[in-house]
Amino acid sequence: MGSVNRTLGEESFAMLSSEDVASLAADFAGEIVRPVDPGYDDAREIWNGMIDRYPALVARCSGVADVVAAVNFAREQGLEVAVRGGGHNVAGTAVNDGGIVVDLSEMTAVRVDREAETVRAEGGATLGDVDRETQLFGLATALGAVSQTGIAGLTLNGGYGHCSREYGLALDNLVSVDVVTADGRVRTASRERNADLFWGLRGGGGALGIVTSFEYELHEVGPEVDALFTWFRADEVFGSLLEGVTPLVDLSGEMAYVDLQSMLDEDYPDGLRYYWKAIYLEELDDAIVDLMLEYNESAPSELSTLDLWHLDGAVADVPRDETAFWHRDKSHMLTVEANWEDPDADDANLEWAREAITETETLSVASGRYGNFPGLYEEPARARYGDNYDRMVDLKTEYDPENLFRLPGNVEPRVDD
Ligand SMILES: Cc1cc2nc3c(=O)[nH]c(=O)nc-3n(C[C@H](O)[C@H](O)[C@H](O)COP(=O)(O)OP(=O)(O)OC[C@H]3O[C@@H](n4cnc5c(N)ncnc54)[C@H](O)[C@@H]3O)c2cc1C
Repeated sequence: MGSVNRTLGEESFAMLSSEDVASLAADFAGEIVRPVDPGYDDAREIWNGMIDRYPALVARCSGVADVVAAVNFAREQGLEVAVRGGGHNVAGTAVNDGGIVVDLSEMTAVRVDREAETVRAEGGATLGDVDRETQLFGLATALGAVSQTGIAGLTLNGGYGHCSREYGLALDNLVSVDVVTADGRVRTASRERNADLFWGLRGGGGALGIVTSFEYELHEVGPEVDALFTWFRADEVFGSLLEGVTPLVDLSGEMAYVDLQSMLDEDYPDGLRYYWKAIYLEELDDAIVDLMLEYNESAPSELSTLDLWHLDGAVADVPRDETAFWHRDKSHMLTVEANWEDPDADDANLEWAREAITETETLSVASGRYGNFPGLYEEPARARYGDNYDRMVDLKTEYDPENLFRLPGNVEPRVDD
């Protein structure tokens, strides 16, 4: 039969010695899922229905020791590593073909320290997991805007949400992290300990190690908040906003903070097909608005949107070299979200989103990329890191010289001549 009908996962798994896999599984408190196991298809499935990849193994970790065991196994066996937090990265980097998935989605414990006004959450927690616990005390940290998203990917690449203009990016709220680096060591990183690693983790997108827990600063937010949430017909807004049009939908008013944080969840169901890209804007002008209207009309799917994010505020107060996250000086971000159902429409939707970004990029106010709305990471890492790029490469070379945590569109270690 040969290997003609085998998936990359099956081929790669067949290259591993059964003794080595058995030895990994024997010491593992969580679960090792192999291509032959009944749970394999569930274990490799993620939120974006467009991603269909076949890893050799999925290591479902139950704690830090499992993460260490999986990292050591991957390094010794020469397996590519994918790390799964909340599984919501649009490029599907939580799963790979033929490698090992270090899956933290069972590691979701959250503990609030009321006296210190901090919260510690494990690396597989979602935004909803964290908000649920912190809101018991009328406290919140700055996270994103959809509760099912993982805190890990969101925070390591930035993290914009309802609180960003007041309290900064999610990564600006980090007090410390526990991280497993490529050598299998568990380190704590904060402003005081392993400060260089802490600098790079805040913006490095997971290139420097696997974060097993995040400690964030908390602020007094909720449990009730006042939200302004109105929808207008696009054809009416720009002509007659000042004349006072009636909103199509108006969800404004007093509401529970946890309801605000999950208000958009339904718009992004599991299994739909998604391709999202973003570009930063130095200011808004008519050309941007015209372009948004044009691409809104030409979208191949009615589910797709073009969104403008208002940034600035506390995000811009932090110096650009204080963390690895570079794009703090931009007033807005334009995101192009292609969302569709039909697999035959993949090409049309990808093309639409790519063209919208390419055309925006011709405008002088547009530049730079956000690691959390990456398309399929087509752009080079410099587009995210700006002048922080060289320092990120130095850290990658020091902490992951063999590029175990290989990520598309991210930094690579320097190779000696
Ligand atoms: C519905 C939806 C809403 C969103 N809303 C927002 C928003 O409001 N604001 C915003 O800024 N972004 C938003 N995003 C983007 C979101 O921040 C990214 O998709 C993010 O990567 C999701 O994190 P995750 O842990 O779920 O990702 P995963 O797919 O699990 O992981 C993505 C990558 O992050 C790294 N990673 C994951 N876990 C770890 C870990 N424990 N340690 C080290 N590296 C790790 C790995 O490199 C992995 O490949 C949204 C995305 C979706 C799908």
